Amino acid sequence: MRKKIGMILGAVLLVAALLAGCGKAPADTAASSQPAAGTTAAAQGNLVVKMLNVGQGDAILIQTPAQTVLIDTSDLDERDKLRQELKKAGVTKIDKVILTHPHADHIGGMEVVLSEFEVKEVYDNGMPSTSKIYLGYMKQLKAKGIAHKALKAGDVLDFGGGASFHVYAPTESHQQEGRQKGYKHDPNNESVVGKLVFGEFAMMFTGDAEKKEEEPIVGGFGGELKAQVLKAGHHGSKTSSSKEFLRAVQPETALISCGAGNDYGHPHKETMKKYKALHLKIFETDKNGTITVSTDGKTYTVTPEQGEQQ
Ligand SMILES: [Zn+2]
Repeated sequence: MRKKIGMILGAVLLVAALLAGCGKAPADTAASSQPAAGTTAAAQGNLVVKMLNVGQGDAILIQTPAQTVLIDTSDLDERDKLRQELKKAGVTKIDKVILTHPHADHIGGMEVVLSEFEVKEVYDNGMPSTSKIYLGYMKQLKAKGIAHKALKAGDVLDFGGGASFHVYAPTESHQQEGRQKGYKHDPNNESVVGKLVFGEFAMMFTGDAEKKEEEPIVGGFGGELKAQVLKAGHHGSKTSSSKEFLRAVQPETALISCGAGNDYGHPHKETMKKYKALHLKIFETDKNGTITVSTDGKTYTVTPEQGEQQ
């Protein structure tokens, strides 16, 4: 037995020596594509999530030890803020862009993202849309030859460096229905909902999913939804964050992306009341600016750009 282990060890060492000998060039290439200054925490083996302060809309940056991922791209008229925030975070290339649903406050900055950053892959909810912004970015994707895929419940995306994204919605059958002619779309409730997992840390991403979409997710995946951090559904609207969903996710912290004095009154006081009853730590981009969550896979910290938790 010992001899066998010795042989295996020998073989491993030989392979390692060979790789070290001939692997110089690729190693250098990898070093040169390391993320810039703003992502040092991610480069050190941590995972960083930034809910970017882009007014009324969503744009959330995830920097894993290996990849840069952007979930949603802010509203059309917040493009300058998005560009500024991404540059501040040291982003030059984006491995994956996930668009939760084709409303303007989620896909509005896509044109800037595609034309000013190197994007490798784009994922969306697989639902067709006739919106001008959606059709515009589809055209841009085609012209640039960027891969475009639909996400469905059950999919697991590898974010590299030990991070993964588990998709809970929309379901494949929902997508099939959605592709039928004459289907009446309800884009909020067709949002990509999924959980980022990194070691023992988890964060739930909800797009603008409301109770209507939360319900079947709890029904289908109830036991798997636990996450320390929740991206509040639909900018903290009272139509989201149902009791059943909160009970399944059991969050400790809620992050809300909304614009100061927005027309919708987000976040709604009903949602805040629910979160406060559960003693959640609450952060809002309108009051706290960009909110940074940093984790080593065991514990996590939340650092607001300004102010205290709400
Ligand atoms: Zn929205």
